[in-house]
Parts: sequence; C-alpha cells; structure tokens
Amino acid sequence: CGIFAYLNYHVPKTRREILEILLKGLRRLEYRGYDSAGVGIDAGNGKDWESNARSIQLIKQRGKVKALDEEINKQEDMDLDVEFDVHLGIAHTRWATHGAPSPVNSHPHRSDKTNEFIVIHNGIITNYKDLRKFLESKGYEFESETDTETIAKLVKYMYDNRENDDISFSTLVERVTQQLEGAFALVFKSVHYPGEAIGTRRGSPLLIGVRSVHKLSSDHIPVLYRSSAKEKKTLPRVDQDTCLFPVDEKAVEYYFASDASAVIEHTNRVIFLEDDDVAAVMEGRLSIHRIKRRAGDYPARAIQTLQ
Ligand code: GLU
Repeated sequence: CGIFAYLNYHVPKTRREILEILLKGLRRLEYRGYDSAGVGIDAGNGKDWESNARSIQLIKQRGKVKALDEEINKQEDMDLDVEFDVHLGIAHTRWATHGAPSPVNSHPHRSDKTNEFIVIHNGIITNYKDLRKFLESKGYEFESETDTETIAKLVKYMYDNRENDDISFSTLVERVTQQLEGAFALVFKSVHYPGEAIGTRRGSPLLIGVRSVHKLSSDHIPVLYRSSAKEKKTLPRVDQDTCLFPVDEKAVEYYFASDASAVIEHTNRVIFLEDDDVAAVMEGRLSIHRIKRRAGDYPARAIQTLQ
C-alpha cells in the first residue's frame, strides 16, 4: 500500500546508500498498513552504471520492512560498495487484494524470469482476469496470483510488439494504461531503459519530489497531451522541449512516493500527479504527459513547496 522510488542522476551513490534511502522511504509509509515489502535495484557490479542497469535484482519478503531488510542482508553476491552515478531503485509495501501475502505475490512484479520490466502498484486492476487470459494465450507465463502481474506482462507485450526500436518507455506505459481498468499508482523500471523511470496514476495517489543542487529552472511543467487528429486543432501545441524539467540540470534526484511524508526529509519541492498523467524521467529530465483531456484543464503541473 505504499510506493517509493529513488532516481539519482549524476549524484553518485553506493548501493548501500540507495538501499538505505529506499528502506527509509518504505518505513515512512508504514502507517498506511502492509503485509509484505520488496525492492528492485540494478544487479550489475561493474564501474559503468549503464551496463549495471542492464540487469535487475529483486528482493521481496513477507512481513515488515525489517524482514525485507534482513532478506537484503542475506544476499551474498550483492556488493554494497558499488557506486552508481545514475540509478533507479523502486520499492513497495503491499496490502494484498489479490493473492495471499507471500514473497512471490509481493512487489515489484516482473515481466519474465530475467526481469526485463518491473513494476510496483498501489490499487486494484478490475479487468486483470481478461488481461491475464489474453496474455496467457500469447504465451506469457504467470508466477503469482496478483492483479499486478498482468501489468508487468502487458508492458513486455507492448515492447515485444513495438513497431520500431526507438519507442519510448513512456509510450509503452501509456499503451498499458489504456488497457487497465480500476485504480492504480504505478512506477516502472526496465533493463531496456537504463536510468529511466515512468510513473502514472488513476485513482491512487502518486507524487514526485525533486531535489537539485542548482536553482530550479522552472516551477511549471506544461503537460503534453496525446492528441488525436481531431483534438490537435483545438489544443494549444506545446513544444516537446519546453515540457522538460529541469531544463539544464547536470545533477538531480527524483523521489516517487504515495505520500509526501516519505519525501519531505529529502526535498520540499513536489509535484502531485493527477489522474492519467504519465511522468517520465529520462536523461535526468522530467516530463509529464497527460493521456486524456477533460474540459477546463490548465495544461501545467506546478511544483509546490511544502511547508
Ligand atoms: N492489488 C495489488 C496486490 O494485491 C496491490 C495492492 C496494494 O495496493 O498494495 O498485489
């Protein structure tokens, strides 16, 4: 029932520091109640962050964050001193709705046995049975009883059926969210998109904290609409480059969380995502893309300063 993710972009951190930040974030969300917890981090142990991000390690456990912490300490091959210039770690505390509390039902869920795509989810996918049936008919093999696992498989399905190799991570996620019914806040990580994070929500809360050593260059992120041909005529067109934030930062940290209490110790600059926003961090820059448009929307998401 809690989402926490941490992306450091050219702010070097050791794996130990990254895990500490993730577990601390989960502890701040403990009050929301949960029955299991898990993290997904880069598995590589080399010097190059990008090749380290080409494999993902999942550590999941039933019970409290303390039990996850103990499980992490049992990982013998894990080198805690490896330093990452860029890294995305995602973490979750689960309140089971579909499938009993167990390590395999815990989040992050994965697309396949090699962890190409992983996802954390807060909420319920009401059409997961239909999605699962469809994906099983296409040969995707499920390992858990959760509704969430269909999302992990669905993003791989979108990737496996992409029309070109330049497809962006956020486009894949948009295609996924268009198939989902129910309530969700989601954060995705993939070996195919090193150093990138995608967050989206509908009905469950999700916010992004931003921390930068430099002065932030803009307080507003114009939101890009995924416009149909008909909509294009009526919507103000926003130049893709202007929707990126911050525009010229060399070093920046992002925190994705269900609740501001998990990020406030790191930064008081936050953006609350709204329903159907797809937020992408790519090359250290955040862009927000809205899938659906409702009348009267102002096409910007403001960065708020929490007191
Ligand atoms: N429905 C998902 C599950 O049962 C997510 C529950 C949650 O929000 O923690 O795994």
